Amino acid sequence: MPGGEQHPPPSGAFDLLDLGPGRNTAVFRLTLAFMILVLLTFISVEGWRAWRDYNHAYDFARDSVSNLARATAQHAEDAIRQVDILTYALGERVEGDGLANINVPRIHALMVQQSRLMPQLHGLFIYGPDGRWIVTDKDITPETANNADRDYFNYHRTHTDHRVRISNVVKSRSTGELIIPVSRRLNNPDGSFAGVLLGTIKLSYFMDYYGDFKIDDRGALVLAMRDGTILIRRPFMDSMVGQSLADSEIFKRYLPTADEGVAEVKAIVDGTYRLYAYRALSSYPLVVEAGLSRESFVGPWRRDLFKSGLVLLVLVAGFIGFAFIVLTQLRRRMAMESEIRLAHQAVKDMALTDSLTGLGNRRRLDMALHSEIGRAKRQRYPLALIMLDIDYFKRFNDRYGHGAGDDCLQQVAQAISGVLKRPADLAVRYGGEEFTILLPDTDIHGAGRLAEDILQAIRGLALEHADHPEQIVTASAGVTARFPAQEDTTPAGMIKAADAYLYYAKNNGRNRWYADQHAQASTQA
Ligand code: GH3
Ligand code: MG
Ligand code: MG
Repeated sequence: MPGGEQHPPPSGAFDLLDLGPGRNTAVFRLTLAFMILVLLTFISVEGWRAWRDYNHAYDFARDSVSNLARATAQHAEDAIRQVDILTYALGERVEGDGLANINVPRIHALMVQQSRLMPQLHGLFIYGPDGRWIVTDKDITPETANNADRDYFNYHRTHTDHRVRISNVVKSRSTGELIIPVSRRLNNPDGSFAGVLLGTIKLSYFMDYYGDFKIDDRGALVLAMRDGTILIRRPFMDSMVGQSLADSEIFKRYLPTADEGVAEVKAIVDGTYRLYAYRALSSYPLVVEAGLSRESFVGPWRRDLFKSGLVLLVLVAGFIGFAFIVLTQLRRRMAMESEIRLAHQAVKDMALTDSLTGLGNRRRLDMALHSEIGRAKRQRYPLALIMLDIDYFKRFNDRYGHGAGDDCLQQVAQAISGVLKRPADLAVRYGGEEFTILLPDTDIHGAGRLAEDILQAIRGLALEHADHPEQIVTASAGVTARFPAQEDTTPAGMIKAADAYLYYAKNNGRNRWYADQHAQASTQA
């Protein structure tokens, strides 16, 4: 009987592909997670950029309206202050002379000269206590004209304060222009009402100035009285003049608490949402508002967002497409690998299985014996091997035919398997009608008992064998056991020893087993 050859563990090209199912799934998940991460990074960077751009646009609009309000307020203040100073000086002079004694041509000349110097000035007027025009900067002073009906006239007549007063816009009686009256009371030396000194400011002066600013169509610039009455507004409409902003949010909510600020509110005049900067003039009861429509700064941002969103969308779609292809490929490859792995396993199993009996084959034993010796050595337990051969099998074949012989081999294989209880026990068909049973962690006594049980089980099959002295199928066995931790143990050595005892059993009457060392038991039917 040939000694056992040593076979290295099988390896092949398939093993290189074989990452194992767990590793494959992990690679797939990792790839998927990475792609999702890239996608989320894409989107969040774009989102952050959009958010930052919006804030920039908003801050820029804030600064713009604040600057606009500051410039407008300064302009209004300067324009009115000049008229204030002029009327003050003029008033001093007129009061000093006494209104009854003034030199009309001289005052007129002075007025003409001053109004030429001041582009905002529409006219200068002095009215007597009855409202009659006394002197103006105009060339002709209409004899019949009377301004006693004007608000400011009534006010000064009934109020003794000397301060300049700004009134609502009126249409000039001299030129028909829209004007803002800036007036003060004139007193007689005894303090009684002597008349009114009036400087009028052209509305067009402000309109020209406001028109020069580059703001969008829906932007607004407003000069209003502190009580909310509109004096001028861009975009300019006649009908707006004199309307009240008193109910607007800025006049109701913001101005009472702060003289200047920025607020985003809906305009009551035209219902547009605007970012407004408001500012109360420091010296006069006037307020300016500068507003940019929300659309003017959100619009460009939105268009930009739309464009980059479109680019992002294309990019994301491309990326998802790409990811889809990569992942599909990966999945396909994984499926292929797993098919290959299964096929590989099947080939491996086939290569190690005996097709007739379903037991392992000799190759299987060679592998197992090699590794079991190592394990027994490490874990310090004994290892036993039984070599079994059917008796007079040639005669069986000769009498009953090869097919019956195969059946017999299958039944014997089943009988052997039926005796083995431990999962680690391994029965193989070594070749022909020879079987080998490898028994880890089993000493010679245990192995002897098992050999006895197996021979008994084969006898128990009671397969007819007319050319056998016993008339039934029997087998002989040789048993060996080693303690690899203590003695030098090789696969070939163990097989050789078991084979030797099998030979011994054959020579000593068959249908029995022999074991090395102490156990010399044998049985007979
Ligand atoms: P011994 O008791 O000394 O073992 O005698 P034996 O006849 O069993 O031994 P021998 O080695 O002379 O004959 C073995 C026979 O086993 C040869 C062959 O007819 C038969 N045999 C070997 N393999 C197979 C097989 O796969 N199927 C069948 N049906 N018979 C086989
Ligand atoms: Mg035989
Ligand atoms: Mg034989």
